[in-house]
Amino acid sequence: MKDMNLTNLSPKQFIEYLKKENIKRFYFVYDEDTKSVKASHKQLEPIAEFLQQDQRDFCKHEGIFVQLSSKYDTLLGAFVHRTNRGQAAGGVRYWSYDTIEDYLRDGLRLGMGMTHKNALAGLWWGGGKGVMAQNPDVYKLDPGIREFLYKEYGDLMTSLNGCYVTAEDVGTNVKDMANIFSNTRFTTCIPHEKGGSGNPSVPTARGVVAGMEAAMEFLGGTLGGKTIAVQGMGNVGSPLVKFLLEKNVGKIIAWDIYPDVVEKFKDQFPSDKIETHVAKRDDHSLMSVECDILSPNATGATLNKNTIPEIKAKVICGAANNQLEDPMKDDLLIHERGILYVPDFLTNRMGIVNCADESAGFVSNDPLIERHLSKDWEYSIHQMTLNVLNESKSIGKPTGAMAVEMAEKLSLENHPIFGHRGKMIIASLVKEGWEKK
Ligand code: NAD
Repeated sequence: MKDMNLTNLSPKQFIEYLKKENIKRFYFVYDEDTKSVKASHKQLEPIAEFLQQDQRDFCKHEGIFVQLSSKYDTLLGAFVHRTNRGQAAGGVRYWSYDTIEDYLRDGLRLGMGMTHKNALAGLWWGGGKGVMAQNPDVYKLDPGIREFLYKEYGDLMTSLNGCYVTAEDVGTNVKDMANIFSNTRFTTCIPHEKGGSGNPSVPTARGVVAGMEAAMEFLGGTLGGKTIAVQGMGNVGSPLVKFLLEKNVGKIIAWDIYPDVVEKFKDQFPSDKIETHVAKRDDHSLMSVECDILSPNATGATLNKNTIPEIKAKVICGAANNQLEDPMKDDLLIHERGILYVPDFLTNRMGIVNCADESAGFVSNDPLIERHLSKDWEYSIHQMTLNVLNESKSIGKPTGAMAVEMAEKLSLENHPIFGHRGKMIIASLVKEGWEKK
């Protein structure tokens, strides 16, 4: 047992280990003074060591807090990356993982991604993410089980005293959010009926159009008459097409993997400017159609060493999260090909923008939300896209790396009223023995 590599275990094996050691909750926190990662339990120090040695994903996460579901052998986690700008905000993902390393890396990458997204959006929120590791022996769509798990997740949020405020993400729906909300006030994205902001997909599509318009302005043109290739006709892809038609684009080539989705789309948009296709899940050949803008609005990692060399678009701009399979190599590959890439975390911010401030009350056509879609506000998608593209051009750095550099700087600014309060919350959780409660 002593030589067991904990990060190589499957979540199921790891949970068996936790039970044997009588651990129900554990944490890893970064100690700025000693520049080291502290584990809540001696037995888990090898994981703290693993995090400390990691050069890519850990990035000094302020705290990782995990608890074991009391009934369904599911890991419920909160990854708090950076809270200078405010409490960590980001959605909770319900996903399956092969190993504990996969689970940790996903939470870490997503947590840091939210820090960058929120900072570039000028939000007074830090960055973090929730990750629930699915138990393969539990039917993930069972409404009773989901209700139990998401209520437990709400309990976890309450126990963390607000250093992380959760929201909706992949694998989580509005009903799940209502279940979380029933046990905590540290959540957003709750349904309209409960006083929340509801579905953010339409504002997200508007944000993508704002990014496209800025990129066209950078190139000295407009969207008028242009050809746009849209991958994915879902909640974002469909309204995106509507807004593009309003901008008088010349042609839209759109595709999805489900024939019924494509049929519904055709009924919704009976325009002779649109060409539709049903694609096979692994067939990305449509990404190389002749077009001005390629817009990925399906899954992540569709921009990679196989697809990028074939792309004919001048601009890539879409809502899909984590479009680059390898954030550094693929960013560089796109840059070297002379294609303008508008980073996803810049252009798809409207999901979090729509819900982040919902605890401050609801205003129809909220000016604090609308300004993100304006052309003049300094942190608007338009202005930020132009800043990233101009800086990237002047110093010759790929746009993804440029956006991360700008986001890193902004994310270290302290909240104007509350300062670096999330860090204080984490310190008090540790002092009060959160893991023993
Ligand atoms: P969705 O599930 O409603 O739509 C995605 C669509 O893509 C589906 O119709 C699916 O069939 C299709 N698809 C999957 N693989 C495909 C492939 N290989 N080729 C073509 N089509 C494919 O999701 P959504 O809410 O529209 O979100 C789209 C993307 O944007 C996701 O990556 C999501 O994480 C991201 N995003 C969404 C929001 C939001 O507000 N909905 C906010 C931020 C980011």
